[in-house]
Amino acid sequence: MNRILLAAIFIAVLTACNQKSVNTSADADKIFDTFKERFVEKLWEVNPGWATSQGYHKYDSVLVIPGPEEDKLVLAFADSVDTWLQQWKPEALSAANKTDWQLIKNYAEYTRFYINEFKGGEWNPSNYNVGGAIFDVMDNRNAALDTKLKAVNSKLKNVPAFFEAAKGIIHNPTKEHTQLAIDQNKGSLYFFTAVLPDSLKASGLAATEKEEMTKNIAAAKQAVEGYISWLEKEVQPKLGDSARSFRIGKELYEKKFKLDVNSQYSAAEMYKKAEERKAYLTAEMGKLTEQLWPKYLGKTKMPQDKAVAIRMMIDEISKQHCNRDSFLPTIEKQLPQLTAFINSHNIIDLDSTKPLKVRKTPEYMEGGGAGASINSPGPYDKDAATYYNVSLLNGYSAEEAESYLREYNDYVLQILNIHEAIPGHYTQLIYSNRSPSIIKSIFGNGAMVEGWACYVERMMMEEGYNDSPEMWLFYYKWNMREACNFILDYNIHCNNWSEQQVKDLLVKEAFQQEAEAKGKYKRATLTQVQLTSYFTGLTEIYELREEIKKKQAEKFDLKKFHEQFLSYGSAPVKDIRALMLNGN
Ligand code: ZN
Ligand code: ZN
Repeated sequence: MNRILLAAIFIAVLTACNQKSVNTSADADKIFDTFKERFVEKLWEVNPGWATSQGYHKYDSVLVIPGPEEDKLVLAFADSVDTWLQQWKPEALSAANKTDWQLIKNYAEYTRFYINEFKGGEWNPSNYNVGGAIFDVMDNRNAALDTKLKAVNSKLKNVPAFFEAAKGIIHNPTKEHTQLAIDQNKGSLYFFTAVLPDSLKASGLAATEKEEMTKNIAAAKQAVEGYISWLEKEVQPKLGDSARSFRIGKELYEKKFKLDVNSQYSAAEMYKKAEERKAYLTAEMGKLTEQLWPKYLGKTKMPQDKAVAIRMMIDEISKQHCNRDSFLPTIEKQLPQLTAFINSHNIIDLDSTKPLKVRKTPEYMEGGGAGASINSPGPYDKDAATYYNVSLLNGYSAEEAESYLREYNDYVLQILNIHEAIPGHYTQLIYSNRSPSIIKSIFGNGAMVEGWACYVERMMMEEGYNDSPEMWLFYYKWNMREACNFILDYNIHCNNWSEQQVKDLLVKEAFQQEAEAKGKYKRATLTQVQLTSYFTGLTEIYELREEIKKKQAEKFDLKKFHEQFLSYGSAPVKDIRALMLNGN
């Protein structure tokens, strides 16, 4: 299909579903469901790479060449979607469809914002990298190797043109994103030197096909190397002090916050809440330190400076940690304890038919740093298992391992398990998968997802899970990090904060390590707004709960609140809020 022709047929295809008259709300929902199906099909046709990454493999062989024509096509799609949505009154739809309507509308708005105003394609050279496009095809566990290689081979033919186009689009990039593009593209060379040649050897393709693909691999590799050396030799030397700043500024920040986070508050309003929370946490951590001092540091005089005293207390209690060989089994052992507490305290119904599998993070998913995260199946592969990936400390020196284990000490490890697993991300995912909306799977709201995981940390503490002052101290430290993530991201992008200011905040006021602060600063130079999602989601969910609690008084049921909240799928909290307060 000619990609330019595609644009012309959007309106025809999408409006075709609204021909019938809508007499009842049941009709409205039925017609809307048809629209959604067509919308998703078109969405994937317009964004084949995104489709593959979501596990939809019809367009695996397509590598889109970026450029103004492509932008036009994507914009035309967004406009036609909008035109179509405007014919509807979302009030006529069911709760599930109402939120889908909002999410699709948000997609159209975001698309226009990204191409017309944000223009990441111009100043972020790391947008151009084919590693992910190859990985997502090869990673498909449901396809035969030969099929996958044929798809990749067809993509490879476009790789040289892809990077030529990229060079034409890039204009006044930031230093940070240029360096990122160089590093990441160097990482992708591995596909051409190892992954693809090895897979090709193991495949059943005919000798002529192998020969052709070998040529395409070599040409693609050369194109990636050419792009890297262009960035290094022609772009980087010109990036002086007048190069574009990675800081996006207040105006773009507010807009991106509105579309990414989709909160009822503006970024500036939420920033104030983060500052307030930080002040509260500092005071509470001070009180806990005084309370714990005799037990742990009775022989030492408590320093006048409260921040210094808190830091000493944290360092002292952090010595309580598991050893490096028992990291994974310790996590594994905690999960049934969490489940038991949740069941006995009527917190939320846990699906006992889908137990979580704890495993060592597979080699190819290791991102360098240790840690633990949930690896969930995509919307097209719901039956695949969900794993709790735990990175072992294999590459760590004794000193590095000790530092890491102190950070994830006996108390913090429990918070981590609540956040990642039960009743955090893993539990939310099970509920989200019960809401059959593919729209919510594709456009899932990051602030709702992270907010839930942060909300349950606080909720579990308040319900009395490990009600010790030590545990509260570390929960507050963790919560402080969530608030400070907001504060630093906002200040870096809107108020010109330097790396030193970020370090001062995180090390002196949030009791983190230098290395963590350095990594956080780097992350905030490369992303915008994402770091605010934790605190924003948490705050909005907590406020919603308190409001409903007040409204329902003695009728309030925590378990019912949780189950209803999660029943809408990963929609923005502000949309769930509207549905819950209106008694839907
Ligand atoms: Zn130790
Ligand atoms: Zn999380």
